[in-house]
Amino acid sequence: MSTNNLNISAIPAYDDNYIWLITNGGKACAVVDPGDEDPVLEVLKKHGLSLKYILLTHHHPDHTGGVADLLDQYDAKVFGPDDNRIRQVHQLCREGDHIELPELDAQFSVLEVPAHTRSHIAFYGEGMLFPGDTLFSVGCGRFFEGTADDMQSSLDKLASLPGETSVYCAHEYTQANCRFAMEVEPQNKALQERTRQVAALRQAGRNTLPTTLGAELACNPFMRTRDDAVVQAARKIDPSALPGASTMAIIRAWKDRF
Ligand code: ZN
Ligand code: FE
Repeated sequence: MSTNNLNISAIPAYDDNYIWLITNGGKACAVVDPGDEDPVLEVLKKHGLSLKYILLTHHHPDHTGGVADLLDQYDAKVFGPDDNRIRQVHQLCREGDHIELPELDAQFSVLEVPAHTRSHIAFYGEGMLFPGDTLFSVGCGRFFEGTADDMQSSLDKLASLPGETSVYCAHEYTQANCRFAMEVEPQNKALQERTRQVAALRQAGRNTLPTTLGAELACNPFMRTRDDAVVQAARKIDPSALPGASTMAIIRAWKDRF
């Protein structure tokens, strides 16, 4: 049983990455997608934390670049996808696996969510989702190694989780995503409200995460590709748009040019 005392905080890295730090009131901690070791080491030292676990969602350097140097200093267990482009994974994670983080009294299940990369995974548990670069607030990752069908299936999988799930995305892209989403669905009240909220948060120098899956289902055009307003917007770009993956493909291509 989890004590559910998990505390999550953002370690900013590069221009707009977040490395999520998970603690449980003690010295043990985990990080998700440490693309850079320096900001992580700074936080660990400042708070006297001991890194026990590293969770990796995909192979991109801005998510994995700090792993080797962190392992030089900490005896941490690394969980990640089955992909030979990531070295140093101690426990390969596949769909449906349950991973145990006993020092944090936490467990997560693994979801395979390909499209941004072919081996991309997400971690779900304790009321939280770490979707890497698959799902952003009001957006989604680019389809570097997958198709619109893949992203539709991956986001459908995430959409099936409870709406109150807190979503810890790996980048601060929310404000730019809102600008695009307002082009797609200008009449969406929840999106209008999220856009105002995000502007105020960014103005105050704060991050816009976590979001919730329920909020994303209400605001995020990539999670709304079967919604009539989003399909109609896609039809203005390509009259052949159909609900689902077809609309996904059209709005992703639209955003890539936006
Ligand atoms: Zn990425
Ligand atoms: Fe990234």
